[in-house]
Amino acid sequence: MKTVLITGSTSGIGLGIAREFAKTKQYNIVFNGLETNGKEIAESIGKEFGISTIFHGANLMYPEQIYDLANTAINTYGKVDVLINNAGIQYVSPVEDFPDEKWNAIISINLSSAFYLTKAVWKKMKEQRFGRIINIASAHGLVASEFKSAYVASKHGIVGFTKTIALEGAPFNITANAICPGYVKTPLVEKQIDDQAKAHGISREEVISKVMLYKQAVKEFIPVETLGQLALFLASESATTITGTAIPVDGGWNAQ
Ligand code: NAD
Repeated sequence: MKTVLITGSTSGIGLGIAREFAKTKQYNIVFNGLETNGKEIAESIGKEFGISTIFHGANLMYPEQIYDLANTAINTYGKVDVLINNAGIQYVSPVEDFPDEKWNAIISINLSSAFYLTKAVWKKMKEQRFGRIINIASAHGLVASEFKSAYVASKHGIVGFTKTIALEGAPFNITANAICPGYVKTPLVEKQIDDQAKAHGISREEVISKVMLYKQAVKEFIPVETLGQLALFLASESATTITGTAIPVDGGWNAQ
């Protein structure tokens, strides 16, 4: 059995990715997230698919909790083969009003936590000559939208980090790739619909059609299963030569 650690896996995209890994029955899964029912979610997926799972509620704002998450995973399963840095938050505001604490939280959770976790699992991956690091960036890792300064900075940052560790990992069969989704209907996006409506002074329906899916050529939210399947492929032995990429899964948004 391989072991996958997925941050922010008790909601949205992370949970969807966890389910795709669970279906293969080839992975132990380390769940993480702030949802208060995280332990139950991990247990119920373990039971449903007959695999071993654990939950660790590390708050990724804090390095010491992040290191404890990594150590717990390694102490429980002996290694982390696949690290998926997925947890992320959003805040939408014109830059002049952007609260300092929101900027700092977004950079910590969306970017710095990936650095701390990568560092913590790197030695084991190197020793075993296998590692897969998959960072859930965003279409906003490749292009910007107004009112999302911290988010866009964090996602561009994680694309740069991905490329760097891809180079460092290559001699050890450690790959690093970023997945750059367009809009996926998760709690994070539900909240953005409201925030964007406020920022632009328009209705929720108008945010969906005129702001969100407006930029995608395919006028559909991205299914979490698509992201889970891609992550599974990137985690596989077949994907050894795919590294340092930022793969758009964005309905053609970045083609324009
Ligand atoms: P979500 O809100 O449904 O899930 C986010 C997860 O991260 C939750 O489990 C939450 O508890 C966890 N989290 C947040 N802050 C945390 C902290 N301090 N410590 C530990 N865990 C924390 O959001 P989602 O839409 O599933 O987003 C997942 C990732 O995908 C994010 O990085 C997001 O930027 C990215 N993304 C989302 C979309 C989209 O349209 N939903 C598009 C592109 C990229």
